Amino acid sequence: MQAPQPLPVLDTLGRPLHDLRISVTDRCNFRCVYCMPKEVFGRDHAFLPRAEILDFEEIERVVRVLTGLGVAKVRLTGGEPLVRRNLERLVAMLAPIPGVEDLTLTTNASLLAGKAQELADAGMHRVTVSLDALDDPTFMRMNDVGFPVARVLDGIAAAEAAGLGPIKINSVVRRGLNDHAVLDLAGHFRGTGHTVRFIEYMDVGHSNGWRMDDVVPAAEIVATIDARWSLEPIGPAYRGEVANRYRYRDGAGEVGVIASVTQPFCGDCTRLRLSADGQLFTCLFATRGHDLRGLLRSGATDADLADSLSALWRVRDDRYSELRTADTVELPKVEMSYIGG
Ligand code: SAM
Ligand code: SF4
Ligand code: SF4
Repeated sequence: MQAPQPLPVLDTLGRPLHDLRISVTDRCNFRCVYCMPKEVFGRDHAFLPRAEILDFEEIERVVRVLTGLGVAKVRLTGGEPLVRRNLERLVAMLAPIPGVEDLTLTTNASLLAGKAQELADAGMHRVTVSLDALDDPTFMRMNDVGFPVARVLDGIAAAEAAGLGPIKINSVVRRGLNDHAVLDLAGHFRGTGHTVRFIEYMDVGHSNGWRMDDVVPAAEIVATIDARWSLEPIGPAYRGEVANRYRYRDGAGEVGVIASVTQPFCGDCTRLRLSADGQLFTCLFATRGHDLRGLLRSGATDADLADSLSALWRVRDDRYSELRTADTVELPKVEMSYIGG
């Protein structure tokens, strides 16, 4: 017998709850300058204590309850999700949950070569790899821990071999730092079946010292690529698709741009975010989370959890990027490495 279809839970702007991003750790082995700059995330930085982090059973329970409210896509993120020990055990717990149609991971790929097959065997469907440049000097300047490009490419190859492709490659473009990498990355992945998606640098958190001048607008990125390899726009693959997609006219595949700053897409934002310590965020730019861990650890039943989660979604009215002004950029916000992107 088929599982009953969940009723869509809509927020105040009519957006259904469809995607869940789970940050499984706030730790990372990179110190990307736009995300975890060393001056803020130095040796004495206090990461979350283990007792505060949701265990796999708690995460599984949250996912089961949320699939009952419409969640169909689940993405594991961080920090760097592959630094969480035995992540494949969590994958094996989440993959069989009825309603989980898409189970994916966003990773810097530093540990992917050794993990890809285990993840695939556990039931992971696909992976997204972050890679901001193809030359070592630029990439190392961005990850700030001297990590070489070749090992990320090894991770991508291992993921492909394990059946976790086609792979999306996410590249954040920051003016003056890696603008030149746009053509390198587009050229490298053209014709491979993998899709590069260039992301506008966002004003998430406070530690990266964001300025509008640092943003390379998506339209400029598209124009740069189009001048070299002619592009044509194609429609979104599904509702809530955040990337604007383009096809190479010569048939070498597609690229995408995520114009979060210059063309916000809040109207279609169907994402809920869960931090490693069990705080729920209804927007990437939320100033505070909602404490789910407290509820989970206080003897609440699944029905109590479902009531409180659907109540949280029903009152959601976030659309930060559509309302972004010089003043909102200054508001207190959580860090990207905590909320997971
Ligand atoms: N560590 C993993 C990784 O890098 O793929 C997962 C977590 S990371 C926070 C998720 C994504 O957020 C990465 O693709 C990263 O490039 C992106 N990101 C981080 N800070 C950003 C910013 N200020 N603007 C845009 N994207 C950002
Ligand atoms: Fe780590 Fe990902 Fe942030 Fe880079 S973007 S510091 S890899 S969490
Ligand atoms: Fe969604 Fe908030 Fe981003 Fe808008 S600003 S797309 S509501 S996460």
